[in-house]
Amino acid sequence: MLDTPNSVEARDTRYHLHSYSNPRRLAETGPLVIERGEGIYVFDTAGRRYLEGVSALWYASLGFSEARLVEAAHRQMQKLPCYHSFGHKVTENAVDLAEMLIAMAPVPMSKVYFCGSGSEGNDTALKAVRYFNNALGRPAKKKVIARIRGYHGTTLATASLTGIPRNHTSFDLPIEGILHTDCPLYYRYGQPGESEGAFVDRIVGNLEAMILREGPETIAAFWAEPILGSGGVIVPPAGYYEKVQAVLRKYDILFVVDEVICGFGRLGQMFGSQAFGLAPDMIVVAKALSSGYQPIAALLVNEKVFAGLSAEAEKIGVFGHGFTYSAHPVPTAVAIETLKIYEERDIVGHVRSVSPRFQEGLRRFADNPFVGDVRGMGLIAGLELVQDKSTRANFPPEARAALELEMLCLDEGLVVRAIGDTVAISPPLIITDAQIDELLGCFERGLARFTNAMRARA
Ligand code: PMP
Repeated sequence: MLDTPNSVEARDTRYHLHSYSNPRRLAETGPLVIERGEGIYVFDTAGRRYLEGVSALWYASLGFSEARLVEAAHRQMQKLPCYHSFGHKVTENAVDLAEMLIAMAPVPMSKVYFCGSGSEGNDTALKAVRYFNNALGRPAKKKVIARIRGYHGTTLATASLTGIPRNHTSFDLPIEGILHTDCPLYYRYGQPGESEGAFVDRIVGNLEAMILREGPETIAAFWAEPILGSGGVIVPPAGYYEKVQAVLRKYDILFVVDEVICGFGRLGQMFGSQAFGLAPDMIVVAKALSSGYQPIAALLVNEKVFAGLSAEAEKIGVFGHGFTYSAHPVPTAVAIETLKIYEERDIVGHVRSVSPRFQEGLRRFADNPFVGDVRGMGLIAGLELVQDKSTRANFPPEARAALELEMLCLDEGLVVRAIGDTVAISPPLIITDAQIDELLGCFERGLARFTNAMRARA
């Protein structure tokens, strides 16, 4: 109730700047105030129930009422509510969680560094890339290549890695030394008449040409999400990563894989790296590491990288890096419990068993005149809207078409997320077959209303 001066909505507008918002528009519409959660659903202050089709920010893998995670936090808060791992201090939780992550890593990894967010994890990895090459006496090998439409965070350095214009414009980004190569989305960037294989060869060729143009002795690392999430749920074509990794090996370039969305079962494998056969030197995880219940992320580094970091720290006297909340005992306790639940309930097996229903159900909407592409894997999907299916032309940005569909779905009781002209769906991993049917039903009704509105406007 915006017209009640002391309502949450009115005070929100008065005092609070939202992430990824347009403050003026938000002041007109008012916020949606979410009050509580139960299973895969959240409820607003009016008591309306929504199926959370994006797991909030792609993280609530176990839904919104997992009592064991609450108890794990509560137990730890009573025992020791805060401590750190600077210098030689540590809590057992940090050690346990590091051991668990090393044991489950998709490729052999050596050490875990804890952070509070995905941005901090990627930022730490970027600093590690520099430190590593200084250790090896290669001060020129510092440039990093990420991808157009990749998302790696929102700090100065990680927003620079991110390849999305709204994250750069007017923030004076990207910072120096970060380059962006092609986005592996065949539907949008494949040329007319070009096969998928030829598309892969062309964009991997462009990557190699970029490396040669800059000088391989200056290129330190390549950054990738297995499936690009916030750039519009982009599944790279078959063979793409194999060819990319061959180029990286050829020029001695570190491979950093951002598993912040794909990690912990989302794609029907424990890690996205396993789904695509990736052999990273560093891995960043966050989000589903604690099912989002506590802010925690981790950077895993292999022995090669760790040896470099350790040698450089020896030279300088200290690894001069540390966040106040790195290895905090409460988030680590919740993450440990989350990983135990994944194993006990075979979350990966569950995702594999329910995801065909989800993916096939969504592909039915490919017949819709305004749905150009349906893509995804496991329990993540994106539907790209087009104004004209034959030319694949998107809607004009001012039409905010995907946002309109997001709002119509919300009205049907389903949270989805508009990203440019793509609508992302990424439900909690605990979703059942019946709940997938419910999700598809809500989406179908939202899409039907969207279709009628667009037809009426045409
Ligand atoms: N990497 C990826 C792939 C992400 O999706 C995100 C967040 N959406 C981040 C990094 C940044 O994480 P955070 O917002 O926790 O800093």
